[in-house]
Amino acid sequence: MGGGSTVVATGNIVRCYEKEFKEMGIDLSQEFKEAENEIPIRLSTKEIQASGSRAIYEAALSLGYQMEAMPKAIDQQKCIKCGLCINGCKQGAKWTAKNYLNQAVKQGAVVRYDSRVEEVLIDQGQAYGVRGVNAEDEFEYEADKVILAAGGLGTPVILQNSKINNTDVGKNFFIDIFVNVYGITDDVNQLSEPPMEFVDLEFHDQEGFLLSPFINRQKMIRFIEAGLKGMRLKEKNLYVCDASVFPSSPGMPPILTIVALAKKLAKDAA
Ligand SMILES: Cc1cc2nc3c(=O)[nH]c(=O)nc-3n(C[C@H](O)[C@H](O)[C@H](O)COP(=O)(O)OP(=O)(O)OC[C@H]3O[C@@H](n4cnc5c(N)ncnc54)[C@H](O)[C@@H]3O)c2cc1C
Repeated sequence: MGGGSTVVATGNIVRCYEKEFKEMGIDLSQEFKEAENEIPIRLSTKEIQASGSRAIYEAALSLGYQMEAMPKAIDQQKCIKCGLCINGCKQGAKWTAKNYLNQAVKQGAVVRYDSRVEEVLIDQGQAYGVRGVNAEDEFEYEADKVILAAGGLGTPVILQNSKINNTDVGKNFFIDIFVNVYGITDDVNQLSEPPMEFVDLEFHDQEGFLLSPFINRQKMIRFIEAGLKGMRLKEKNLYVCDASVFPSSPGMPPILTIVALAKKLAKDAA
């Protein structure tokens, strides 16, 4: 799907894992700035927040919690507060990675939809393309550089199929899960807003979780990001650019960091 999981995301756009990547020698400060200039990010406001979330916010403050408005990439003028961001936004109010994809297409990139990559073509330790299947047939595309971006679930499988020389691939899978706590109230609701309009980050550094008002009305299992620990590829011309390069779960919305990593990779691989 063009845009990947950003199409079903709730529009939370925050920096995460910056310190951890820096400790690994990957300084993303410049790339974060570039991404933040390109993605229209603004704090959630009263105009868009539902009564239930505001009640939670005000109760949290009165109890001494550090609840704040969430930085969102949602155009509040276009948003109709249907609360269905995770089904994809029909109003076009939410920023998605399709913006970048459309820019690439304008620059001459060709997108092959309905095509499943199965393995990287490698000859003598050098990647030179991919092989896969589409609706009609098998395909092979050759390339000077191969960048896998099939996400934490897809990329490890492609790498395993490719029999690359790396014993870490496919191990240390993580998911970042939601724990929902519900209560019953009269008169207020949380349904008429993009989910997660507020956030409390005070427990993140020590305990690894954040607090946010969210109603999981579809009762769907929600994968925030899936990753694979410690991937280092030795094959030449082969790169990975998705959540699978996080060595551990960031426990925070990762889209902005994945965009920053993509920018870094684009510069380094050019
Ligand atoms: C409901 C929901 C809400 C979320 N909300 C937020 C949020 O508000 N903020 C935030 O920061 N994060 C959010 N996330 C998490 C975030 O969207 C993902 O972690 C992030 O987009 C992952 O990016 P990725 O590039 O690793 O993978 P993906 O975005 O999953 O992209 C992988 C792409 O590769 C394709 N693919 C997979 N296998 C193959 C193959 N073999 N061949 C070809 N193509 C393949 C997939 O179809 C997909 O298009 C949310 C996630 C979900 C599910």
